Amino acid sequence: MDHFLYRDGVLHAEDVPLPEIAAEVGTPVYVYSTATLERHYRLFTEALDPLPHLVCFAVKSNGNLAVLKLLGDLGAGMDVVSAGEYLRARAAGVPGDRIVFSGVGKTRDEMRIALQGGIRQFNVESEPELRALSEVAASMGAVAPITLRVNPDVDARTHEKISTGKKDNKFGIPIGRARAVYAEAARLPGIEVVGIDVHIGSQLTDLEPFDEAYTKVAELTATLRADGHDIRRLDLGGGLGIPYTRSNEAPPLPLDYGAMVKRTVGHLGCEIEIEPGRLISGNAGVLLSSVIYVKEGQEREFLILDAAMNDLVRPSMYGAHHDILPVEEPPAGVMPQPYDVVGQVCETGDTFAKGRPLPPLAAGDLVAFRSAGAYGAVMASEYNARPLVPEVLVRGPDWAVIRARPSYEEMLKRDSLPAWL
Ligand SMILES: *Cc1c(COP(=O)(O)O)cnc(C)c1O
Repeated sequence: MDHFLYRDGVLHAEDVPLPEIAAEVGTPVYVYSTATLERHYRLFTEALDPLPHLVCFAVKSNGNLAVLKLLGDLGAGMDVVSAGEYLRARAAGVPGDRIVFSGVGKTRDEMRIALQGGIRQFNVESEPELRALSEVAASMGAVAPITLRVNPDVDARTHEKISTGKKDNKFGIPIGRARAVYAEAARLPGIEVVGIDVHIGSQLTDLEPFDEAYTKVAELTATLRADGHDIRRLDLGGGLGIPYTRSNEAPPLPLDYGAMVKRTVGHLGCEIEIEPGRLISGNAGVLLSSVIYVKEGQEREFLILDAAMNDLVRPSMYGAHHDILPVEEPPAGVMPQPYDVVGQVCETGDTFAKGRPLPPLAAGDLVAFRSAGAYGAVMASEYNARPLVPEVLVRGPDWAVIRARPSYEEMLKRDSLPAWL
């Protein structure tokens, strides 16, 4: 089910024609669909039923307060990787006991903020972090619930920049060392072991690596229980991939993922946590942009857009593909022609697509990048002093700006001059 469809020849987000948003907010702008966010969250909770579980949305994929509130109100937990994300989740009304704190480099200040505000668990990634957390919690007279993130040494078979479960990645504790570190955790003041955590990477298009990792986690659960640890929660991470093209690739569905979870760890009587980001937010958003110029190139025409790599960095950073749709539906029978689709930034890397077949387009036409709801706005910057891209949330026929574009004045005001200048 797709909530970005043509109606009467115009691309809509749910019931809202995209040109209406472009006219009022300007472009570039991210547009999110409430119905898609809700649907994807529900697919996961239904896939894990009847196991006791909590779906913790990975805030790093889309941290807008409105998106977090929408999912939090449905009962979602949150997976955060910084104090900033923790405070966003809290500001969106998500209680601390539904927030898990992941990440390799949590600082003592960040630990303190989460312990003060309330936290479901820290997913601890190293021995030095474990000792630091013990000191911080003990000094506050608090107890930090923890899991240890184990690195199961499986190949996630995804892009190398987002693969996290091989033994040479920076993440987690080698699974072979887990027993020793759990033994230390049990001895440390201010620490309470509650479970095991694993996250092997992002944009996985195959269940096999998950299966392998979760099977290892199940074995480890039995071992640690025999050692006397109360393993009552398993955090299985995120990483389920989405289709970035509408044609061939078909990543596994949450329902199949849920069945695999039940098969590998369902018998252990643990509460299951998962941390999906991309699969909930990715296809819930488009980046809407206008053509500024069509420029004659040596080989083909350049489509120069008002969106650039600072608004959507995935193509230049990961070589990622995003489908690009003309907002006005091309009449039947129109021959597509290949374009190099580029942004305004002064870097050759600011290229969205090369030789992309699109119907003939002209200056002023609108296009939409699909699958831009995850790792889009959160990675945006103001490189080239381009105003941070705004965000809009649609619900049925209604829409609202959920992050406004800053004015040039506001951007200038953030800098200050030292007294000697
Ligand atoms: C990035 C990340 C996620 C989310 O990954 P997706 O591919 O967006 O599902 C979940 N957990 C951790 C620890 C992460 O770093």
